[in-house]
Amino acid sequence: MRILVLSDIHANLIALETVLRNAGEFDRIWCLGDVVGYGPEPNACIETLRRYDLVCIAGNHDWAVLDKLELEDFNADARRAVLWTREQLNVQNLDWLHALPDSFRTEDFTLVHGSPRAPLWEYVLTSGIARINFEYLDTSLCLIGHTHIPIIYRYDNDTQNVTAEPLPEEIPVPLQGERMMINPGSVGQPRDGDPRAAFALLDLDTLTLTHYRIEYNVPATQLKMGQANLPLRLITRLSYGW
Ligand code: ZN
Repeated sequence: MRILVLSDIHANLIALETVLRNAGEFDRIWCLGDVVGYGPEPNACIETLRRYDLVCIAGNHDWAVLDKLELEDFNADARRAVLWTREQLNVQNLDWLHALPDSFRTEDFTLVHGSPRAPLWEYVLTSGIARINFEYLDTSLCLIGHTHIPIIYRYDNDTQNVTAEPLPEEIPVPLQGERMMINPGSVGQPRDGDPRAAFALLDLDTLTLTHYRIEYNVPATQLKMGQANLPLRLITRLSYGW
C-alpha cells in the first residue's frame, strides 16, 4: 500500500495537479489539512481530492472558513483570504469541510494538522515543542502539517531527547521501530525558502517515507490570485517559498 501524503494545499490547484501528475503510483491520499485558504481555487482543490481514496483531516484555515475558529487570530491577509474563500465555496464543498475530523489514527500513525496536543492550532516548530507533544501521542508515528516546513522530529527512547533533522529529498526514511513526528511540507505554499511544491510518499509495506519537491507553474497560480484580488503579499510569497 502506497499513500500519497499531502498537506497545506491552500487552494493552489496548479501545485496540487502537478504533484498528482508526478507522484507516481499510489493507492490512497492522506491529507493533513488546510485544503483551502490563501489560494485561488478552493472548490476545484476539494473536488480534485475527492476523486481519490482519501483520508483528510481539518486544518485551521478549513475551520476558519466555516466560522469554527476565531478570525481575530489570523493576520489581516490570511483573514481576507478566509473571507474570500467563504464566498467562493459551494454548499457541497462547505458540507465536505464541515465533516472533516480534527485527527485520524491507524495502528501506527496519528494524523493531525497542528500537533497531537492541539490538533488545529499548535505549530511544532522546535524540538522542545515536539518533545512535549510526544507525550500526547498514542502511536509511534505522527504526521503533521501547519508550519509548511518539511522536517523530522525523532524521539530517542534511551535519552528521551528529541532531535530535529531535515527531511531528505528522494531518500526513503525507515520508520520501523521509530518514534517520529514528520511534516511532509506544503503543496501550495512552501515556507522553507524553496518555492517548489512539497509532498511525501509513504510505503506501508516497507514502512518508509520518501519526501519529494517538484516545480510547478508559480506565475500561473499568481495570475489567478491577482484576478481574484487576493492580497499581494500572499501572491509574491509563492515566488520565494516563504
Ligand atoms: Zn497552512
